[in-house]
Amino acid sequence: MIRVTVWNEYCHEQEEERIRKVYPNGIHNAIKDFLGANDDIQVTTATLYDENKQLRENAGITDELLANTDVMFWWGHVRHGEVPDEIAIKVKEAVLSGMGIVFLHSAHHSKPFKMLMGTTCNLGWRESDDKERLWILDHNHPIMAGIEGRYFELEGEETYTEPFGVPDPDKLLLIGWYNGGEVFRSGCIWRRENGKVFYFQPGHESYPTFYNPTVQKILTNAARWVAPVCPRMPLECPWVARLEEK
Ligand code: ZN
Repeated sequence: MIRVTVWNEYCHEQEEERIRKVYPNGIHNAIKDFLGANDDIQVTTATLYDENKQLRENAGITDELLANTDVMFWWGHVRHGEVPDEIAIKVKEAVLSGMGIVFLHSAHHSKPFKMLMGTTCNLGWRESDDKERLWILDHNHPIMAGIEGRYFELEGEETYTEPFGVPDPDKLLLIGWYNGGEVFRSGCIWRRENGKVFYFQPGHESYPTFYNPTVQKILTNAARWVAPVCPRMPLECPWVARLEEK
């Protein structure tokens, strides 16, 4: 059983009617619904703001939650700064010790992602209802399992454009092209010590992206692929005794 925690700011859905219409129960629950429909995936959610729009202590992330999470999904946008640094460090260290993580859309500027990348993670953006065509670069990668065709399309998405200020991915799985002319590295994977990281660009709050069956398939595959295959590794730098006699 893969224990997934879907973390969401949960601001737009509570503050804007037009977003609530798209995700009435929050983006986190939309993701929970399709991930949790799989027998091998068990989903918990955590949010920065509670249902009464109150900021949760420690961004809703406890040591116990992290210890019991194999894979974290992270959706954040306008309140990255309200995640305490010490919590972001704990998330980063959980990844370094083996927890898998999937960063969605505007999580490119979240504290844990920037800490794991070590760069600005800047990009260009525009909200103009562009169509996005996502080109699949490796059909034989487990995250792309079952995705047919050379590409798939999303009728509307926020345009993100290169240059994307990240270290070169270990592997690029998707290139997004927008009908405004831009391209973006829309599906990237990195290893960070013991942990696997997947960044997936679609998922702007005003579009029904997380209801798209292809997106759901990719994110389900991603949950399985970034999941650790061994217990969490300690982050230590120990003195060790000789194994052989001198
Ligand atoms: Zn966005």
